[in-house]
Amino acid sequence: MNLDEALGLIAEIPDFPEPGVLFRDLSPLFAHGPGFAAVTDALAGTVEPDVELLAAVEARGFMLAAAVGYARGLGVVLVRKPGKLPSVAGRVDYALEYGTATLELPENVVRTGARVAVVDDVLATGGTVNAACTLLENAGGVVSGVSVVLELAALDGRAALGGRKVSSLQVV
Ligand code: 5GP
Repeated sequence: MNLDEALGLIAEIPDFPEPGVLFRDLSPLFAHGPGFAAVTDALAGTVEPDVELLAAVEARGFMLAAAVGYARGLGVVLVRKPGKLPSVAGRVDYALEYGTATLELPENVVRTGARVAVVDDVLATGGTVNAACTLLENAGGVVSGVSVVLELAALDGRAALGGRKVSSLQVV
């Protein structure tokens, strides 16, 4: 299956999780073997050769980063929702497209100077990925780039990420 066909598996759900929001649902893509493989291969190709570690945002980012990590021979640090980790290197509160949220980074996983690529499903306002980047950088990591399946251009997530390199498989 080619990448365009794979991306075509993403469903558009109006008025979820709130009225007026058009939610992009990757569930049909994740459930489709050839589609998931095509997206994994394409995302793996966006990760710079010198990257040493992937970072994934709970929960859909875990799916993608695990697959990309296997494809590229890289490990994954799990950036988690609060209260899941026994000891944390840091925590960040941030604003979402709808609501607020908190993310935490596990302690003693990101080595000082490690080059890290962040993987997630959707870049919307950029608040989530920016929080993940902040956690990684505060822990001594160097964010090499951000790789997402889908970028929602109208929400200008790139601006929230400053000058960090962003690779998206599709911009809508
Ligand atoms: P942001 O922080 O960039 O506004 O939102 C991105 C985060 O919220 C991502 O972790 C993503 O999983 C989730 N998100 C926001 N909008 C959508 C959407 O339309 N579809 C999906 N699947 N996730 C979304």
